[in-house]
Amino acid sequence: MITSLLIPDLHVDSIYDIDLVQLKQRGVKGIITDLDNTLIEWDRPDATPELITWIKELKEHGFSVVIVSNNNETRVSKVAEPLGVPYIHQAKKPTKNAFHKATRGMGLSVQETVVIGDQLFTDVLGGNRMGLYTILVVPVAQTDSLITRFNRRLERVALNWMRKRGKIPWED
Ligand SMILES: [Mg+2]
Repeated sequence: MITSLLIPDLHVDSIYDIDLVQLKQRGVKGIITDLDNTLIEWDRPDATPELITWIKELKEHGFSVVIVSNNNETRVSKVAEPLGVPYIHQAKKPTKNAFHKATRGMGLSVQETVVIGDQLFTDVLGGNRMGLYTILVVPVAQTDSLITRFNRRLERVALNWMRKRGKIPWED
């Protein structure tokens, strides 16, 4: 059913609430993460010290990481390169291409990879379409870029629809 593709496997407040040890125990080896409003605010130009530490931690745990973003190369490279994280820009999520490319790039299977993101219609939908484990985070910023604002409106409609039918497995 179409709506189940919009339901994440896990919903957390922020990337820092993700239990990395538990992921590892589940056999996860690779992380595909969104950038804007997932790792940092969409209008913040550089990584925060907190994010730098988190990325370091991921690597220490042995995870492969790829940033997959629908944003342009200038924006994505400016954050990803100093972090030493490979990236795919203009990913056109929720299409599957970039997710394929990211898992292939890490040399991992779908079962070994998770997707982290803040949007239902790009990150969660795209990840679920691929059969990846999806983790939804609360957007870091209250504001959004113009395109995202449109997506958020759709998101609210979908969430209300699912909530009414008791399909939301997490607490708001
Ligand atoms: Mg985002």
